[in-house]
Amino acid sequence: MNYLARQLHLLKSSSWGLALPKGSLLNYLKLKSGKITDTLGNGGVYPPMMSLLTVQRCNLNCSFCMGVKKRADWQEHELTPKKLERILELDIVSKVLVVIFEGGEPLLNKDLPELISMCRKRGHLVGIVSNGILLAERVDELVSAGLCDTQISVYEDTLGRLSKILPKVMSKHLGKLPINTSYVLPKSQLLSAQKGEFKNFLDLINMLKDSGCSSLKITLCESPTISALDLTETLMTTDAVYDEFIDVCRTNLKDICFEGYKSNSSFMPSSKFSLYFPRPFEINNSGRICRLPWQHIEFDADGNYLVCCHMDTELDERAKNVFEAGVDNINHEKAQKIRKALLDINIPLEPECVNCVQNSESSFFRNV
Ligand code: SF4
Ligand code: SF4
Repeated sequence: MNYLARQLHLLKSSSWGLALPKGSLLNYLKLKSGKITDTLGNGGVYPPMMSLLTVQRCNLNCSFCMGVKKRADWQEHELTPKKLERILELDIVSKVLVVIFEGGEPLLNKDLPELISMCRKRGHLVGIVSNGILLAERVDELVSAGLCDTQISVYEDTLGRLSKILPKVMSKHLGKLPINTSYVLPKSQLLSAQKGEFKNFLDLINMLKDSGCSSLKITLCESPTISALDLTETLMTTDAVYDEFIDVCRTNLKDICFEGYKSNSSFMPSSKFSLYFPRPFEINNSGRICRLPWQHIEFDADGNYLVCCHMDTELDERAKNVFEAGVDNINHEKAQKIRKALLDINIPLEPECVNCVQNSESSFFRNV
């Protein structure tokens, strides 16, 4: 299923837009037409997408994880129907098209079906980002609650387990619940796969396709540090191995719709398995491409607002908490500075945005 088919599926899930929150489609068009300023809401553009940190724990323990804070009092930081109600009542959320439950691992949250159903009752479409390990156990109740889209993050370590879980899930839900997948591709892994003519990656893609999944989105690897981004593992325009890998995929993989970099997609909806490659990264800090601080709003279960996932240090600052200090705090000083710089080539980027892949041509669209 290519990008366009996925959007059509979402539109169909909202009764062709009729069930969406009032004014949300108009707001989306306003955003797409570029009518944005350094503030969100207040008569300007509202974010069309909202991510919620549903839990801050996981059933895996990946060494590179940025999404899990290991804390003893994790129970107090789970998203509950009561907390979600407060978030959904915020004016800034009123024009959200898609709510995404993520984590940690959102399938660990026992209230997830109720949380999904609360969002659907208000007209929002709902997706999850999950590692998929618990999907076979929970998928039926989630689909009944109104889940529209699923994105599974695939890792080297989970491939074996997913090769058993995904066919089980798809045997019941094929055609009803699209399962899209993503894989963060570090440079060192691709260089090592080159020695085996990329066979391990070809097998991975074929496994996902044969399981009935809709797509695989390859993502460039980047590691945020306190002051900037570590790009050691990021595939750059100078890395010939990336072009070689894509060519091998195009020669060896059949019946696949290639999207993004070196696309052969015809901009028509296609139900074929889609494989998305981002453009390789090229450092260009004079570019002003990132629109995440307008397209996307993110809260943890306690109402703390995050401009994007690179701004993790903001989580614990009470001043950014919309429950305690009011929704105007999504326009706090730092957020405005980030947005201002992303709108004006003459203003230096905030440190977190320097070398960010999202601010380059590599960033084509964000799935779910
Ligand atoms: S599956 Fe995702 S959230 Fe869980 S530990 Fe790994 S990277 Fe972190
Ligand atoms: S450029 Fe990167 S760090 Fe800056 S707002 Fe966009 S995603 Fe966040």
